[in-house]
Amino acid sequence: MRIYNTLTQRKEDFIPIEEGKVRMYVCGPTVYNFIHVGNARPMIFFDTVRRYFEYKGYQVTYVTNFTDVDDRIIKKALEEGVDASEIAERYINEFRKDMEALNVREASIHPRATREIEGMIDMIAGLIDKGHAYEKNGTVYFRARSFKDYGKLSKKNIDDLESGARIAVDEEKEDPLDFVLWKPKKEGEPYWTSPWGNGRPGWHIECSVMSSKYLGEQIDIHGGGEDLIFPHHENEIAQSEAASGKPFARYWMHNAFLNIDNKKMSKSEGNFFTAREICEQYSPQALRFLMLNAHYRNPMNFSRELMDAARNSLDRIKNGVYRLEHLLGSRPGTDDEITPGESRLLEEANSHRVKFEEAMEDDFNTADAITAIFELVRLANTSCSEDSSSSFIRAVLDLITKLSDILGLKVRTEEEMVDADIEKLINERQEARKSRNFARADEIRELLLKKGILLEDTREGVRWKRV
Ligand code: AMP
Ligand code: ZN
Repeated sequence: MRIYNTLTQRKEDFIPIEEGKVRMYVCGPTVYNFIHVGNARPMIFFDTVRRYFEYKGYQVTYVTNFTDVDDRIIKKALEEGVDASEIAERYINEFRKDMEALNVREASIHPRATREIEGMIDMIAGLIDKGHAYEKNGTVYFRARSFKDYGKLSKKNIDDLESGARIAVDEEKEDPLDFVLWKPKKEGEPYWTSPWGNGRPGWHIECSVMSSKYLGEQIDIHGGGEDLIFPHHENEIAQSEAASGKPFARYWMHNAFLNIDNKKMSKSEGNFFTAREICEQYSPQALRFLMLNAHYRNPMNFSRELMDAARNSLDRIKNGVYRLEHLLGSRPGTDDEITPGESRLLEEANSHRVKFEEAMEDDFNTADAITAIFELVRLANTSCSEDSSSSFIRAVLDLITKLSDILGLKVRTEEEMVDADIEKLINERQEARKSRNFARADEIRELLLKKGILLEDTREGVRWKRV
């Protein structure tokens, strides 16, 4: 397996620290609001990385954090007149709902910064002992120049950085490059006691602490969006390596931005859609498909046209699968034997599986992996018919399902109804109502609800949405 490593700026063979195991850490969201579609990109992508490693037989420990103390959370709490922890709790719940809808699996461990303060204080104290950090009036700074490799991830020259950085008037840093590990309490803000007075940790230290606590001092993969390379990941490396004296993460993986009109989607710019609204307007699966239909290191320009196209493409797979399910559904239970012709076709099907794996193993090229699934669907559409053996149909269906599942795409109708099916039932319900068969109409409404489809009768007709 080859992975592009931001640290070495080339694709490298993946060699785990411990055979058969993958330890990975992905920086999670700051929970002060609903996540936007851009935030969903790393979550969907790294979930897919994890799924692929598991498919290959690795035991994966996947850690992603919640940043639940931060200026933005505190600001929102002050605006609403509630506790910061209430804001965090609320948006952790909303995040979980979004992830479940997007079929992003729960992390092995999902730590929260506010529950790891003790570990952060320990690491900061250790860094002070080693001369890598110093305290000034209740603020603890990391001494960037004390870490000789500072800049190695972002490829920034320390002197260039120096000349670009300015010390703000109220700062007491020794050097403009130094960054905060601990900051003193401000009026109305949450705080914890520490050897340097009451205060709270800086952002970067939390990830160094949580990854070493749950994954050990050395990890295989560290991921996040490319905006995190500098300063966040650069600072994580400095903290972790200065503390342990060992290389921190072997492979640094970064997804490119999701843009709108070629500008990074971001809360502060106001150019965003929440993942929730896009999931409601289309479907979570269409959004997941859209993300994976591009290479993770390519920027993606988000638009409604792309969402429409994603939904249509996903429906093509689902319709193919639906047809196979129906072909099988009309058969007696026993399997019949595969014919020699079918056996040749299965070899061809298998070659698409090989292409799928090759694509995934070439730095997780999910776009090419999806193309391989389409090839399989095409094969199914042209070669599976009423005359085919059920064993053959089943083998093709299983393969499409298995590969889709690695990408977290649900294509079976038992799992999720395709749009065409829903429309068909809605029409049937309209007919039933016209002929005053209200019992049947209600039955259909109930049936759809069980499948997660909510009907809404409006003046313009029946609308439906996935709930
Ligand atoms: P934040 O909550 O801002 O710390 O972001 C959480 C995750 O989303 C991080 O991995 C970011 O790098 C990532 N991210 C934020 N905005 C975008 C975007 N427009 N495109 C892709 N990833 C993003
Ligand atoms: Zn982080």
